[in-house]
Amino acid sequence: MSRNADISVIIPAKDEEQSIPELGAWIDRVMKANGYTYEVIFIDDGSTDRTWDAMLALHESNPSFKAIRFNRNFGKSAALHTGFRAAQGEVVITMDADLQDSPDEIPGLYKMIREDGFHLVSGWKRKRHDPISKTLPSRFFNAVTRRISGIRLHDFNCGLKAYSRVVVKSITVYGEMHRYIPVLAKWAGFTRIGEKVVEHRERKYGVSKFGWERFVRGFLDLLTITFVGRFARRPMHFFGSWGLVSFLAGFFFTAKILWDKLDSVYFSRIPLKRDVTDQPIFYLALVAVILGVQLFLTGFLAEMITRQSISKKDYLVIERAGLEEKVAIEASR
Ligand code: UDP
Ligand code: MG
Repeated sequence: MSRNADISVIIPAKDEEQSIPELGAWIDRVMKANGYTYEVIFIDDGSTDRTWDAMLALHESNPSFKAIRFNRNFGKSAALHTGFRAAQGEVVITMDADLQDSPDEIPGLYKMIREDGFHLVSGWKRKRHDPISKTLPSRFFNAVTRRISGIRLHDFNCGLKAYSRVVVKSITVYGEMHRYIPVLAKWAGFTRIGEKVVEHRERKYGVSKFGWERFVRGFLDLLTITFVGRFARRPMHFFGSWGLVSFLAGFFFTAKILWDKLDSVYFSRIPLKRDVTDQPIFYLALVAVILGVQLFLTGFLAEMITRQSISKKDYLVIERAGLEEKVAIEASR
């Protein structure tokens, strides 16, 4: 096979039939003007309009345009994930299909990956053409994500991003995690994360595909991602420690109850003011012990599952000495 293309452009699209032809022609112009070899991978995410036909028409006119079609709508993350698996280019660029991202940004992004050595470069829509109901919550989101992840980006959820190929091959984007790809990349060990101010344009055709529920889901996903990043490979450290704390608290409460009871019955002979079951501490002891055992068991089960599911993608071998590639990769499984 000939050498890999310079650039793979991945474009998820749901009901964007009007934008596809224009976007395709524009990308082709930019690539030719800069002398890049490229492939464009469209993912039709269960469109109900003629998006797929538009993709096929492009493919027939130019085989650098490729397309994948889902049988139903699986969401932007699923589309990106599928595109990432298929991409062959040295640099992988994602962009939205609605012409809000400009293909003119491609050369700048490409250079930041190839020449400046970034693992990932995220676009920053400094001047956004979106309603305030979207830009305001998004500022809040970005601030929280910056805090939690420690990544200094202004615009985590920008659809226009560039990656070195190894990055997209080693992350799994699912659910609605496309908002946090830089965080996923960081957890996977790709820390050279850059940012580039990009032009953001008005949506020319069609309507936005994301409503208010993006904020609720986005927040839950942020919790997941933080948790998974820190404890997915060692769940016992999380559940086990809290389980231990809870269990010990319960143990001391129980000891105290027992001691008071024994004391009143055998030593001081002063009857308890209240029955054991009338004391609040009795219920605290009960809950703490049960909770402790539950947490401990959860950690234990999670640990067993983790042992089974550590997959070949979890450890990335980037260099070897004295071992053939196949052997080194096998060893890391
Ligand atoms: N998209 C998708 N699947 C979905 C929702 C959106 O592939 O379930 C695509 C959509 O076609 C567009 C991109 O994701 O190319 C960004 O969506 P949109 O422009 O609606 O988001 P917004 O710009 O409003 O944040
Ligand atoms: Mg858009």
